[in-house]
Amino acid sequence: MINIKSKLPNVGTTIFTEMSVLANEHQAINLGQGFPDFSMNKTLTSLVATAMANDMNQYTHMNGYPLLTELLANKYNNLYGSSIDGKENITITPGGTYAIYTALTAALQPGDEVIVFEPAYDSYIPNIEVNGAVPVPIALQYPNYTIDWHEVKTKITARTKMIMINTPHNPTGAVLSENDMQQLQNIVDGTDILILSDEVYEHLIFDNKQHQSILRYPELLKRSFVSFSFGKTYHCTGWKLGYSIAPTHLMQEFRKVHQYNCFSCSTPMQVGIANYLQQSNDYLTLGASMQKHRDYFAQLMVNTAFKPLPSYGSYFQLYDYGAISDLPEKEFAIWLTKNYGVTCIPVSAFYQKPVNNHVVRFCFAKQFSVLEQAVERLTKIV
Ligand code: PMP
Ligand code: GLN
Repeated sequence: MINIKSKLPNVGTTIFTEMSVLANEHQAINLGQGFPDFSMNKTLTSLVATAMANDMNQYTHMNGYPLLTELLANKYNNLYGSSIDGKENITITPGGTYAIYTALTAALQPGDEVIVFEPAYDSYIPNIEVNGAVPVPIALQYPNYTIDWHEVKTKITARTKMIMINTPHNPTGAVLSENDMQQLQNIVDGTDILILSDEVYEHLIFDNKQHQSILRYPELLKRSFVSFSFGKTYHCTGWKLGYSIAPTHLMQEFRKVHQYNCFSCSTPMQVGIANYLQQSNDYLTLGASMQKHRDYFAQLMVNTAFKPLPSYGSYFQLYDYGAISDLPEKEFAIWLTKNYGVTCIPVSAFYQKPVNNHVVRFCFAKQFSVLEQAVERLTKIV
């Protein structure tokens, strides 16, 4: 047996796979891994089928199907007043995760420091480490999971290469405010610090809050890679299709990595989405429709001993189970799956160091009937 030296010695299997496998084993209702269980738009699926039937099945341009990148640029320029050019600034990727990985790989040198807020989406820190760079975690302030910008200032060093942000935030559902963006701008002003902004939940935002995209802030955008996912916007997480937006000089480096790692993404899906974008802007109503699922779930959960924390976006809401159990979060999530047939995700999985706030994440992007069945089981907990 020939061994290799692990680049990720501390990494196991992701919590999402672990909990989904456990949910299947116990026929539990899976409110763990984040994916919607409702159908996606049939016009969009038929446009993809039509593209396949029309022989749009060979490689498209490595940066993305040109009509799609052009339409995305138009979408963002209309939404956020940016002046993005589809050809120069957008690359279609196999998912938002890949867009994040590629930006980090293009930008980081060994020893560079990256500020990352915890709880952090589980791919961020391994993606930093695999590039030989050093994560500098800063805890979001429990229970509202806000950023302490003063602490951010104290963590900046000569080696700080990048700050990663994520709004709406997974796993907490927190969203950044205009004031947060201003503070971020003040901190990076006059430095060479880059920003990676994960905005995969851009349209899944509630209570009439405005999504604070980096694309609204030219001074921030000039130093940013911004990641998006069609999976979240069109209820098709299994398509694994997303994109990155960045200024030309950063995107050139991104594409050097991308062209030898992926080259180009699924053509018929890109053609289908491009044709769909020409006839629909239903992403504008996505937040309101997902909010109904958040509110329905919250209203049902009132009958349980779980205490809600606020969620202003994403698929997720955190709940405090302190009134039910003293178990650490992961043990609690396993116990709940095995004994009550409902799966959630321990928030501790999004931290490097052990934490225990007795908080777990539930995914409410499920049909109302599924949410009802799940909560019926949760009400049985004594
Ligand atoms: N970032 C966050 C915060 C996410 O929750 C997800 C969802 N998986 C992604 C990135 C990646 O999305 P994709 O499935 O398109 O890779
Ligand atoms: N983003 C999803 C979540 O947070 C899962 C994606 C994955 O399984 N990698 O649950």
